[in-house]
Amino acid sequence: MSQVRRSPLQVISVVIIMLGFHLACLGVFVVGYSTAALVAAVLMFGLRGLGVTTGFHRLLAHRSFKTGRVTQFILALFGSMAIQGGPLWWVSHHRSHHANTDTDLDIHSPATKGFWRAHIGWMMTHGAFNENGANSRDLHKYPELKFLQRYYFWIIPGQILMIYVLGAWASNAFPSWGSSGLQILIWGFFISTVFTWHVTFMVNSVCHRWGARPYDTGDDSTNNIFIGILGFGEGWHNNHHRFPFSARHGIKWWQIDTTWYLLRLLSAIGLVSDLKIPRDSAE
Ligand SMILES: [Zn+2]
Ligand SMILES: [Zn+2]
Repeated sequence: MSQVRRSPLQVISVVIIMLGFHLACLGVFVVGYSTAALVAAVLMFGLRGLGVTTGFHRLLAHRSFKTGRVTQFILALFGSMAIQGGPLWWVSHHRSHHANTDTDLDIHSPATKGFWRAHIGWMMTHGAFNENGANSRDLHKYPELKFLQRYYFWIIPGQILMIYVLGAWASNAFPSWGSSGLQILIWGFFISTVFTWHVTFMVNSVCHRWGARPYDTGDDSTNNIFIGILGFGEGWHNNHHRFPFSARHGIKWWQIDTTWYLLRLLSAIGLVSDLKIPRDSAE
């Protein structure tokens, strides 16, 4: 399998974006906070976090349920808004992680690469751009996903503009909120994005190091309750490596899995169907 080595510009742009977003969060010391800004941050965390878990992960990477093209596109769009790469790139890396979990070929294994490389550093290496996408070819039949992959960078300025304009308008219309366009932008976009990043990244780092291992999956994956709750169910990662096809990651009733609850809701209103779950494990 030949791999294409891309320009170092890609690595440099990821470093600039990641550093820039983290630094932009410090803007909070200038703009302060308000209830409206906190609500914007939580809403954007929920929308985009669930876009990644429901759209990128459970639908596109694992095909763990069925849905129509429009719903698939909307879920992939929300996932793309989380600034974690385009859908085809994300899926390709994730499938590679499942195929090579915690071996030398696993680009974000804390076992072989160390914690920080697994958490964030791997995206700033050439390896992050060497994925040739052969393992996500099944998704190439959807031109709308290829479109998102190709133009996903523009989602960044698009969101900045939209959140700022909406935030400025709402702050003006409701002066009692005590907010401003810039404040809503810092909270609703930058802080929310960085928070969503680290929650997703912790699935790769923390959930391959700390937590329970009820299943002997032959890798280091763990169930971590903290990431289970914060990561919309993705922290039940040992369950996931045992049953990667499953739309439900929190297998026990007490394993909170918000993505699964959303899928049940979407299924009840007919937007998704054929939710796959492991036959011998549900309670
Ligand atoms: Zn894993
Ligand atoms: Zn997975």
